[in-house]
Amino acid sequence: MTDRDTGRAAEIAANLAEVRARVDAACARAGRDPAGVRLLAVTKTFPAADAAALLDLGVRDLAENREQEAGPKTDEVAALRPGAAPRWHMVGSLQRNKARAVVRWAAEVQSVDSDRLAEALGRAAANAIAAGERTAPLDVLLQASIDGDPARGGCPLDGLPELAERVIRSSDLRLRGIMAVAPLGTEPRAAFARLADAAGRLRAEFPSAVELSCGMSNDLEDAIEYGSTCVRVGTALLGGRGLASP
Ligand SMILES: *Cc1c(COP(=O)(O)O)cnc(C)c1O
Repeated sequence: MTDRDTGRAAEIAANLAEVRARVDAACARAGRDPAGVRLLAVTKTFPAADAAALLDLGVRDLAENREQEAGPKTDEVAALRPGAAPRWHMVGSLQRNKARAVVRWAAEVQSVDSDRLAEALGRAAANAIAAGERTAPLDVLLQASIDGDPARGGCPLDGLPELAERVIRSSDLRLRGIMAVAPLGTEPRAAFARLADAAGRLRAEFPSAVELSCGMSNDLEDAIEYGSTCVRVGTALLGGRGLASP
């Protein structure tokens, strides 16, 4: 390793300690066990070497938001850390024509927001399993739109049961829960409260839907208070992404 690599790895280690401390403190305030909150490191726009550094620090759950970037990066990380077996998550909006590519690397897709995407992923997962490109069914979270604004992606809260029905019809998809981003310009706690309510209702009808993925660098404490089981953290672990990034 060069000095620069060592410095970067130390910086990521310090950031990780800080994020874990924030998660632990939020869990303590909420009376929750920190083991019930997964930390997903969002590596979008950052190099494979940063993902490798996270794996060295024991972070196994990594996330990307664009297939075009993630496809090559996941291969690079596999080459850098052959034994590490990361679990990659797709958290960004996904075109149906990218389903085939995504199921090659993703253990889980958190951004399923339409019947047609669910169908495309089910078909793609079945084909990938038949071709020996993957062994397990694809874990799926339904992306919920808390404010129902269709422009920003996500399924309106009252459409979630119907979409869940579509997902469980495919034996190559495994319904795991829901994911959401707090809408811009609204108070995150009010948004998370509505989301938690919808998650509770979905879970009552679909017992496998135990995951609630919400909370990012800026609002993970509020999300944990409202029951998040999975926080997705980019900036607080790896730094700012600048203007070019989504
Ligand atoms: C980029 C991204 C994140 C991480 O956001 P930060 O504010 O950098 O922590 C979380 N979820 C999704 C869907 C993202 O695209």
